[in-house]
Amino acid sequence: MLYVCPTPIGNLEDITLRVLRVLQEVDLILAEDTRRTGQLLRHFQIARPVESLHEHNEREKTERILDRLQQGQNIALVSDAGTPGISDPGGFLIRAVIEAGLPLEVLPGANAALLGFLQSGLLSPGFLFFGFLPSRRAERLRELEKLKGLTYPIIFYEAPHRLQSMLADVLAVFGDRRASISRELTKKFEETKRGTLSELLGFFAEHKPRGEFVVTVAGAEEEAEDKNEDDILLALQRLLAAGLSRKSAVNQVSEEYRLPKNYVYDLALRLTVED
Ligand code: SAM
Repeated sequence: MLYVCPTPIGNLEDITLRVLRVLQEVDLILAEDTRRTGQLLRHFQIARPVESLHEHNEREKTERILDRLQQGQNIALVSDAGTPGISDPGGFLIRAVIEAGLPLEVLPGANAALLGFLQSGLLSPGFLFFGFLPSRRAERLRELEKLKGLTYPIIFYEAPHRLQSMLADVLAVFGDRRASISRELTKKFEETKRGTLSELLGFFAEHKPRGEFVVTVAGAEEEAEDKNEDDILLALQRLLAAGLSRKSAVNQVSEEYRLPKNYVYDLALRLTVED
């Protein structure tokens, strides 16, 4: 069995009992950085063999790992922090294990993206986790153009030295949407700033970004649509309260907002049903 084991992203209490048990029981632990994982294992008094598996040796090592799994060994995969394979090494091995028909178990645990998303309050039924945008500006702008029309909130990871230029590019391509920036999640100096992209840029112009960051940006139409719908409902409500018939209210609002009558009519129905 290959066990994918999330580790804490700051607070050492954020490791599950199951991850600890698996790490204690496996024949081998594959770690992104053996020294870093060594510290974690020492903290929890776990003494199991550790080998490195990082982006530079993942491909060449995979065959040997598959052999060991085929022989019946149990192997755990960890990264430096959080969930392996999420903007971290591990994806290549996981795919290879699945393709070889070998057993795989993914354990739940810490992940910065989900915490940043929940802290943002920009919750919607769907969301897109993007991870790191390209560091080269031209590629980053191209990528943002592709994401621009998405109606889901988008979650990014970003390094502190690139945060401001990244925010400036998102603002340039997406416009001044709502966003949220969480830093040092689960750590002593954890904080979340919420506002428009321009407000957040202003904040970080005065406060040098330090630590690790998750950036969540509101989706495209979602915002425009919500606002529009709320405005229309309010306008309809006012006219109805002033004594206009539903038909006249719909006519007036659809003219004012230059919207199709049947669309406004559907909204008016919702209003009367809800009322
Ligand atoms: N696999 C990890 C996970 O599941 O969250 C992410 C690894 S990725 C190499 C590291 C990036 O994740 C950081 O640059 C930052 O954007 C984000 N990150 C990790 N820990 C964080 C924390 N405690 N607070 C905020 N962001 C964090």
